[in-house]
Order: sequence, then C-alpha cells, then structure tokens
Amino acid sequence: MEISEVKKILDELYGWADVMVKPLVGYETLNYRIKVSDKYYVLKIQPYDDEAVAEVKGESIILDHISHLECEYPKAIPTISEKKITHWKEKYIVRVLSFLEGSFLAEVNQSEQLITSFGIAIAKFNLATKDLYIPAIKAKKIKWDLSNTHISRDDLRCISNTKYRSLVDYFLLQFDLYVKPKLHHLPHQIIHNDANDWNVLCTDHTVSGIIDFGDTVYSTRISEIAVALSYIMVNEKDPIQKGCIFLRAYHEVYPIEVNELKLLYYFISARMCVSLISSAASRKEDPDNAYISVSEKGFWQLLNQWISINPKYATDTFLKTCGYSNGNYFRKEDVITARKKNIPNVYSLSYKDPIHMNSAAFQYMYDKNGNTFLDAYNNIPHVGHEHPSVVRAAQSQIAKLNTNTRYLYDPLQTYSEKLLAKFPSSLNKVFFVNSGSAASDLAVRLARNFTGSNRLIVMEHGYHGNTQQGIAISHYKYASKGGKGKSQQIIEAPLPNSYIDGYHQDPSTTGIRYANQLIKKIDSEKDIAAFIAEPISGCGGQVPLAKNYLSEVYPFLESKNILRISDEVQTGFGRLGSHYWGFEMHNVIPDIVILGKPIGNGHPMAAVVTTEVIADAFDNGMEFFSSFGGNPVSCVIGSSVLDVIEEEKLQQQAKKSGDEFFKKMKHVKERFNVIGDVRGSGLFLGIEFVEPHKSKYIPNTQLAAHIKNALRHKNILVSTDGPFDNVIKMKPPLCFTEENVNTTIDALIEILISLES
Ligand code: PMP
Repeated sequence: MEISEVKKILDELYGWADVMVKPLVGYETLNYRIKVSDKYYVLKIQPYDDEAVAEVKGESIILDHISHLECEYPKAIPTISEKKITHWKEKYIVRVLSFLEGSFLAEVNQSEQLITSFGIAIAKFNLATKDLYIPAIKAKKIKWDLSNTHISRDDLRCISNTKYRSLVDYFLLQFDLYVKPKLHHLPHQIIHNDANDWNVLCTDHTVSGIIDFGDTVYSTRISEIAVALSYIMVNEKDPIQKGCIFLRAYHEVYPIEVNELKLLYYFISARMCVSLISSAASRKEDPDNAYISVSEKGFWQLLNQWISINPKYATDTFLKTCGYSNGNYFRKEDVITARKKNIPNVYSLSYKDPIHMNSAAFQYMYDKNGNTFLDAYNNIPHVGHEHPSVVRAAQSQIAKLNTNTRYLYDPLQTYSEKLLAKFPSSLNKVFFVNSGSAASDLAVRLARNFTGSNRLIVMEHGYHGNTQQGIAISHYKYASKGGKGKSQQIIEAPLPNSYIDGYHQDPSTTGIRYANQLIKKIDSEKDIAAFIAEPISGCGGQVPLAKNYLSEVYPFLESKNILRISDEVQTGFGRLGSHYWGFEMHNVIPDIVILGKPIGNGHPMAAVVTTEVIADAFDNGMEFFSSFGGNPVSCVIGSSVLDVIEEEKLQQQAKKSGDEFFKKMKHVKERFNVIGDVRGSGLFLGIEFVEPHKSKYIPNTQLAAHIKNALRHKNILVSTDGPFDNVIKMKPPLCFTEENVNTTIDALIEILISLES
C-alpha cells in the first residue's frame, strides 16, 4: 500500500496528521512501524472479510485477557471513535498496537537464563489462556496449526531439492503415523502458535515481550512448545539439551503431560516441515520477500540433524527433564533368550553385542536404547530406510487392491515397462517372484529348459540363495562350514580376484588368464545349461570380477549355447555409481538377470529378466505362477523405488560418495599397512585386512572382526565377508553422503590408531 494512503488512514481514523511510517516485514498482514510525537506504534492492515474481523476480535479478547501478565503483549490503541479494531472503506481491517521495546530473541545470545525465562513466559501465557473460549479462534483453520499438516503437504512439490523433499515427507509421514491418531487425546487450548525468535523480545537476558498473534489458534498445547523449541534449537550442537532448558522452565509453571512429551519429537519436526514447505511455496509466488525464508536455512540444518537423533533418545530426554520415567526398561539378554525360544539357533545375530532395533530413517537406524546408527551396511533399503515415497505407495495400494497375476491390473503393466526400460532391448521379459533365492531358482529352471542341458558353472565363493537349488549353486555355502560339497551338476569357476592374484602375477592380466583357464576347463564338457556369477562378488569379499574376464568368457559361452546369468541381487539399481547394472561395468549383456534385495527397498520382491526366446521356450504347457510375485502392492513399491532413484539422482550420489571413499581411503591405505586392498564401485565397497607381507597373502580375519565390532560401538554399521572373513563390507543405502563416508573413515582411522598404541 502506498505510504500516502497509510498516512491518510491514520489521519482519518486516529487523528494523527504528522506520522512517520516505515513498512515492516510480514506474511499476509501489512505491518508498519509508525512514529507519532516520539512514540512508536505498529499499524496492522489486512484484507477485510467477516471471518477475519471475527478472528481479529478474538485476538483482541486474548490480548485484553493477558494484559496483567508480567511479560508484555501488544495493546490495542483506540481510534478517534474509541474502536480497537476498525476498517478502511470495508476493504481493510485496521489496527494500531503498542510497540514493544527490546531485542529479538533471534538477535541475542541465548543464555540459559534467557531460555529459562522464555519457557516461563510461554507457560504463563498458556496457563492464562487455558480456559479461554473464543468461538472465532476455535473455528480458525490455518496450515500453521500442526493438526493440519495435510494442508501443507499439498505444496510438498514446491521443495525443488528432491532429497530435502523426501526428508520433509518422511517427517510428515511419521506425524501421520504417530501423532494424528492421538491428536484428539492431547490437551487443547488457545495458543499463540508462533513463538518464533522474531516474535519474542528480550531485555537483559529475560523475555520481555511477545508479539504477533496472527497465527493464534485453538489447538494442541504441545504445538506451542514445539514451535518455540524448533527455533531455539537451530544451529545448536546439542539441540535436545537446549530444548530441555525451555522444557524444564515451562513444566515448572504449567506441567506438560507424558502423552504430550511422547509426541514432542514429531511436533517439532512437523513445525519445521510446515515452515519449510511454506517458504518453498511462497518463494514461487513472491521470490523477493526475504521474510519468507528467514528461518529456512536454519530449519534445513536442524531437520537434517533431527534425522540423526533417535526419536527414543529425544523422547526419553524430554520425559526425564520433566521428571517422568520412560518406563520401558529391558535387558538385552532377556530379549535374546526370548528370541531363541522360537527362532532356531541357525539364525545369526550381527556383532558381539547385538543391536535391538526400533526404527530407521534413510541412512540411520535407531535402537531401543536411544542410539542412532549410521548404516554403512544394509543394501536392501536401497533408497533409504522407510523412504516416504515407497512407504506411501505401499500404504495406499495395500488399502486398495492386492491380488495376483491371474487378474489384469495396471500396476503390473506400469512397473514392468518401467523396469524393462532400464535394460538393453534384448532383455525384454520379466518374471516376478518374492526372493533372490526364488529368482535364482527360476533362472536356473529357465536355462535348463531352454538349453535342455543340466549342468551349471558357478563362481567360487558365490552365493545365490537359500533353497535346495540355491545352496547347490552357491560355493559360499556348499563348500563352507556345514556344506555338503559340490554336487555333480556343478562346475566351479575360480574367482578372478586380481588383488590376491597380484601377489604372484601381473594383476592386469588376471581377467584374461582366468577366462582362458575356464574356457580350457569347459571346452570339452557337455550338458552345461548356464554360467552364473555376480559382477562383483559380494560373499567373495566385494571382489570385482577382474577386468576382461566376463567379456572374454561370455562370447565363448554363447558359442557353446551356455546361457549367461548375471546375479544383480546386490549390485543392481545404480549402486555401482558408474553403471545401473553390474554387467554393464564388464561390457557384456547376459541372457538372464536376477534381481532382488534393493528392488523393493525391503519389501519382499525379486525378479528374473530375460529374452523373449528364453521366456517363450518356458511356455511349454506348464503354467508359471507365483502367489505373490508381481502383485499390485509389490509393483507400486518397485515402481516408486525406480522413481526415487531417478528423482533423487541416487546413482550419481553413489558415484560421488564412492569417489570420496576411494579418495580418502588411498591415504588411509598408505598410512596403515594392514589394509591390503580397497575396492569396489560406487557404494559397493570392500576394505581387505591382511598381515603385512610383501609376497605372501595372509588374511587378517581377527582385525576385520575387531574393526567391525569397534565401528559398531562407534555407532557405525558395517560387516565382514570373504572366504577369510577379512574384508570389511560397505553397501549402504544410496542416500549415504560424502559426509557419511568421511564419518565412517574417520572412525576407522581412530580405531586403527588406537590399535597401534
Ligand atoms: N543372490 C545374491 C547375490 C545374494 O546376495 C542373495 C542374498 N544375500 C541372494 C541371491 C538370495 O536372495 P534372498 O535372500 O532374497 O533369497
């Protein structure tokens, strides 16, 4: 509004002819600081409508009601005709409020004393309005009321950074899950609802005033606390401890209930999400309004930090601060004993000190004791643990239709097209099953059916599944502890491991030499249906098949009518960074590809992709049916996994994080001679530990085990593998950042240094 018009309003309605007017920042209301005979006031002008008038009147009732409080609140200045609220030509609502002196909380050093006084001030305000009933405020429906996070979610797409968008959606999802069903049980009352650090004034380490009642609503009392906390927690090394200063003070004045504290973690993140979505949406409409993004940077920082805080830790700390116990103590030994009652001993548990997991988010896992673990190991939650896009896809489809491939339904078509588009054109048929084991089993059936042959070439140390057939083709199992050895149908191909081979021979020729050895071995053999191998041997210890090996072997196999099966259960879907599929890394095209693990981000699904002729040959009269394979829920999940990989550029992220890993590990390897080899691609990585020896390969199994367990105690998850279990294996969710890589390597260095002393 033109300043001249503002001055006209003040002259006509308030009788102030000589006024200085300065616009202030704001969202929807036009705010001005005005100066009349050396006194400052705030002029508020907003569009006129009946609802707004009722709300502003409600606001005025609140301000009158709390005028006795120690902390100062704006007071309405009456017009010439003694009105606290007036209007301008029925176009604008006009108010003049007293101007509060002091510095904004955002601008001052937030001492413990100040935060304590903030907690007290908000608690006293809440206590004063506890039983206040104002229909217009109760009827108010705004996106800033945290009960209405669904309104904000409509604008989620305004957040252009897709990873950040997913982070926000994750927290909105958690809010839907944990908070929404309990909202109506929580204490409700009139709350200010916007005690952000630009609405709170301070004088001498004390909160002296609170302004801007524009977002006042009747809502959950805990929202009030969450809003205040979210702002003071920004840019803090330990935001929870800072928040607890406020909580303690508030609770002394106006006790907070246990059920409110139990949800506070999610309320805090919800406030950040609503604010961040609002900033993103508003920027589209009003790119130059600086006020829109005043808290944006800080909230992105805090939200990214929030994800690394176990909700259980936050909640337990909040409860303890307010004098409550978390009430659920358990002994891990008891949990292990109870598990053993039902679960056979043959199941293993990771780490000497197993972890009792509770929840997870992206690259973090949270245990029941409040610890957060950086997950550098689990490849199944490929796009991140509990990724909201995948979870929401599953939730909505399972509530709508879940059936089998004997019916027509759209998700099967959509998904199969999307998945096959990722393959070379010759691989154009897909079978859906539920596990990698079922997929490798089917792959072998397809190969035997197509070739009419029976025998199989398998890679040394390979693993392909837990079924009878799976074990039979997995050297890693049949040739190890408890294994019954190789069956007659199996021909073994030695693993072309250029690192170990390099102890004796030129490692640049490993691939060709091993290929030729295999060719020689099978040249005169008959009745071979297929050759199965992973492009990088996971169980072999993250060993990339030596360069030129597959490109040499594949054409020979083709000439012998032996099908080539690539097991991409671990290596597929962009994990390798440089390539979407492992076979691409070797410049070959298989006849059959096995997919599993990451395909459903944890949902049990798997697939076999093959050529039309192989699929057609399988149609010999016997139906192929998998009760669950390709069901609509699995299809929408698989589809969303593919979408997230694209949208969040996760293959590129794997490349960036992998490159960072190799850059850093080059120096670490030089510094510590127990590291024999560092290898892999993208986020499929291995660090091999050896006894330092120039010409003899001596695996250091003990050291690898020690490091695995020591990293676990530094809250980083990795595993060991390889024939000697001396390779630290890393294959984290692809959202694992360069910073996460550095955290892991720094921890590894610390452990290695501690062993030197
Ligand atoms: N192939 C490979 C390469 C695997 O790593 C695995 C599982 N570790 C499988 C097949 C079997 O998959 P699933 O456990 O889903 O049956």
